[in-house]
Amino acid sequence: MAKVLVAGAGIGGVMAAYRLAQNGFDVTVYEAKSYDKVTYDWHDDIAKDVFARVGLPQPDESMRREKRNWTFVVPGSPKHLFVPLEVATDYTIMRRPLLHWLIGLAREAGAKFEFETTVGLWVKEDKVLGLAVDDHNVKADLVIDCTGVDSRLREMVPEVYKIQQKPDQYEVFSAFRGFFERNEGVEVPDHETNRAYLLHQGGKGISWCIADPADKEVDILIGRADGLDDNTLNVLLESLREDNPVLSDKLVSGGKVCRIPIRYPLTRMVADGYVAIGDAAFMTIPMLGSGMAASLDAAQILSEVLVQHQSVSKEALWHYQVRFFKQVGADFCSVDVLKRWLLNCNPDDIRWVVDSGVLAESDFGAVATGEPFKLTVKQIIQKACKGISRLHVLLAIAGVMKKGEKAKKVALAIPEVYDEEAISRWEAKLHKFLK
Ligand SMILES: Cc1cc2nc3c(=O)[nH]c(=O)nc-3n(C[C@H](O)[C@H](O)[C@H](O)COP(=O)(O)OP(=O)(O)OC[C@H]3O[C@@H](n4cnc5c(N)ncnc54)[C@H](O)[C@@H]3O)c2cc1C
Repeated sequence: MAKVLVAGAGIGGVMAAYRLAQNGFDVTVYEAKSYDKVTYDWHDDIAKDVFARVGLPQPDESMRREKRNWTFVVPGSPKHLFVPLEVATDYTIMRRPLLHWLIGLAREAGAKFEFETTVGLWVKEDKVLGLAVDDHNVKADLVIDCTGVDSRLREMVPEVYKIQQKPDQYEVFSAFRGFFERNEGVEVPDHETNRAYLLHQGGKGISWCIADPADKEVDILIGRADGLDDNTLNVLLESLREDNPVLSDKLVSGGKVCRIPIRYPLTRMVADGYVAIGDAAFMTIPMLGSGMAASLDAAQILSEVLVQHQSVSKEALWHYQVRFFKQVGADFCSVDVLKRWLLNCNPDDIRWVVDSGVLAESDFGAVATGEPFKLTVKQIIQKACKGISRLHVLLAIAGVMKKGEKAKKVALAIPEVYDEEAISRWEAKLHKFLK
């Protein structure tokens, strides 16, 4: 029975532990935090269809509700874009009960959990041997690294495997998340409860203000790709208050700045006896930083690959990476192209794009779910008519969409087998679109 050690009880790591334990692997999960404090004490959005796709039942109704639709707010524009979805595609779900449920399933299947235990990677002569736990080493056939975007383990993987150690500049969101008391008696229009601010106040990032009537508090996120100092945070909070009178200044919970990857997935996420999953492998939608669904997909793929190949060599684990890129990662590459453009474009051009109707509600809806823009010829002609006064902006958008499509095509052409030269060529091609 192969011995698997999972570092970090992130959603992907726990799901992988569950599936592998079900399939007879000897699995132990090590998590730095206590069981009661693991993950976050708030709710986030997750695609509903992921549960059926990975073979889980729908989570209990007590931990989820239907996601309300986004209204996008663009700098300087009086026009707000409400994204009408006929059927809500996402749940808003409580993070801790969701993870506790998965931990329960994994435990029932035989996985063991060690909380309040911080681990490092045990490496000897360019080989990953297991985990360094407290003052001793624990040997394993495979280490699954689910320790998040700033994984220390990823940095310790021997250089021969060429795994990128750290994300680059602008590839991580510094995100403040806080829940504030509502100001009494302030009505929020039904189609303005979930506001997302693109390039908020002209900066490189997004913010949101969610005043869902089902919540006692107002949910605030302020994310910046170029870091978030106290002064900027206060200015942005103040501007949200001005725009959303329902938002008080009384913080109820949250209130810290977290880091979320907002880039395409790692182009090398495997080594002999090591594999990265979730934020440790940058598996989030680059535009929004949502990564729960992708982590569950990745865990399901990883367990299927391990069961099928019964090997933890980099060649066997590469099949996991290939399947992840084909199912999820290639779309993220395309969205990343758009995100890079958006972060660097002139906010005035974005305002014009919205005011002129060149980009409509439905275009933003696609991005919110992690899909690339798709336009028909008819739609392009209609947009061209609306956008004739600023043709350069329209051409830039068309160029970005084309680049995004090409990036996806290259990402899908990931080498099917682990061949050092072929992988290097593939990576170089992909990086041309994404650096
Ligand atoms: C403010 C915010 C809002 C978000 N909103 C959404 C959303 O709406 N939808 C969505 O899908 N995603 C959202 N995300 C992203 C989502 O949380 C992650 O993409 C997803 O949970 C996968 O992360 P992870 O489990 O891989 O990493 P993490 O959540 O970072 O978990 C890593 C775990 O590893 C543990 N750990 C770290 N180092 C060690 C170590 N050395 N030893 C042992 N344990 C260790 C940590 O304690 C932690 O429990 C949001 C994230 C943030 C911060």
